[in-house]
Amino acid sequence: FSVENTRNFSIIAHVDHGKSTLADRLLELTGAIDKTKNNKQVLDKLQVERERGITVKAQTASLFYNCEGKQYLLNLIDTPGHVDFSYEVSRSLSACQGVLLVVDANEGIQAQTVANFFLAFEAQLSVIPVINKIDLKNADPERVEKQIEKVFDIPRNECIKISAKLGTNVERVLQAVIERIPPPKVHRKNSLKALVFDSTFDQYRGVIANVALFDGMVSKGDKIVSAHTKKTYEVNEVGVLNPNEQPTHKLYAGQVGYLIAGMKDVTEAQIGDTLYLHKQPVEPLPGFKSAKPMVFAGMYPIDQSEYNNLKSAVEKLTINDSSVTVHRDSSLALGAGWRLGFLGLLHMEVFNQRLEQEYNASVILTTPTVPYKAVLSSAKLIKARRAVQKNMMYIDQNRVMLKYLFPLNEIVVDFYDSLKSLSSGYASFDYEDAGYQTAELVKMDILLNGNIVEELVTIVHKDKAHSVGKVICERLKDSLPRQLFEIAIQAAIGSKIIARETVKAYRKNVLAKCYGGDITRKMKLLKRQAEGKKKLRKIGNIEVPKDAFIKVLRTQ
Ligand code: GDP
Ligand code: MG
Repeated sequence: FSVENTRNFSIIAHVDHGKSTLADRLLELTGAIDKTKNNKQVLDKLQVERERGITVKAQTASLFYNCEGKQYLLNLIDTPGHVDFSYEVSRSLSACQGVLLVVDANEGIQAQTVANFFLAFEAQLSVIPVINKIDLKNADPERVEKQIEKVFDIPRNECIKISAKLGTNVERVLQAVIERIPPPKVHRKNSLKALVFDSTFDQYRGVIANVALFDGMVSKGDKIVSAHTKKTYEVNEVGVLNPNEQPTHKLYAGQVGYLIAGMKDVTEAQIGDTLYLHKQPVEPLPGFKSAKPMVFAGMYPIDQSEYNNLKSAVEKLTINDSSVTVHRDSSLALGAGWRLGFLGLLHMEVFNQRLEQEYNASVILTTPTVPYKAVLSSAKLIKARRAVQKNMMYIDQNRVMLKYLFPLNEIVVDFYDSLKSLSSGYASFDYEDAGYQTAELVKMDILLNGNIVEELVTIVHKDKAHSVGKVICERLKDSLPRQLFEIAIQAAIGSKIIARETVKAYRKNVLAKCYGGDITRKMKLLKRQAEGKKKLRKIGNIEVPKDAFIKVLRTQ
């Protein structure tokens, strides 16, 4: 295929607006998959994607399309739409020259429509607006056209109105891809310059790198070098994704495909890396900003004997999802484990679910926290409000776009759910990092009879310490079994106790077996029991079942 007849594009949209369904139709139209009623989100290959009906991992497919007697190669990259996965979106975009911006004809522009549009706009890509679901009874494509013109400054006559479900007008989308998106700017005569924009791990074949070729060509047997590690590899296989892997003799500049070269480790296939031919070094392509974790949680095997299995599962999964950060950690109650960083809550849940489904691992996840920077100065004394309005724009009479500055920890847990229920499902939400802000935060300890429980130490906003502390104490009270002595459960900031619950002693009736009479024997028994209590209390030997920790630490 000549470069002039090649197009690399992506589909971006708010979640559920129909990206994957549109991708199905494009695959059918171009003969990549057979036309049957059963093609539902074909590119969503992961089980978690099929169950949740969302795309988690961007997928690539090379399509062949005949238009006015000319054969075209169209490389389609399906992207996830959820906020947590915008990192995947921007990675995919770096291999593209244009995007299809899909907007639901009923819902109109939503938060991630805006966020995704700006990712494409900043990357200077051609944007083709596609209004989907025109078959719906409540569809109002004219209103959505106006919104698109107002918010994105795209003339309304550029919108293509389709039904991805029924296939209406989908052919026009392919024509627009050819007409409106430029071919990639590449040079086949130069030496190889390939961008690694994604990588997956296969148990038998090692790392499979998804590559976009900017210059030159690559074939089986070539010796290639990673600009990042400077390691040399021999290429075992190259090919296109159709959407399944299909080996080819060569990959040429302008093509998007995959490459297997005996890389065994995630660090060897860095996303954003440039590959070049041995002895023909090139200037590496600008890489990506590395993903920045926003939500952190502890992860432990339910049973310590499972540690090694879980370790290998976590390692393999992070090869497929390099946006997760992993640090070893250990807890007195839960044993050896990790501290993991995720892009958001959904990302965390999806990671957990993939561990269970793809690697059969069962884990304990602790309540997520967000990163803080502690500065030991009086600046924390500055009174910061928890949310500050920044911007407001009317999209039309019915919809308004609001921008707020929020502390991240206020939105990681259940903010999205509350927003949805308050607005009866109408509001949508997206966020980007606004940097660190000063706030009045305190470190809250949880004490059991005066001993700090390390795994329950949290950082909370001063105003919320009391209510958060109370909830933790109550949960602990419900899950701690009674023991021979009383247990005081306290939440404390420094030496100040802010919440308290008590687990009453389980009073063993030591006298039950003494039938009257022997007073000295009675006294002895009572004394022994008192000593027993004292001894236990003194060494802080409270038997806290692991279950109790799990109940307190778990998200739900
Ligand atoms: P994605 O999250 O953007 O990938 O959206 P999906 O392709 O998974 O579609 C979300 C839902 O919208 C699914 O239930 C689809 O069947 C439905 N859907 C997609 N396109 C259309 C359409 O043109 N008309 C109607 N009525 N439903 C559609
Ligand atoms: Mg999808």
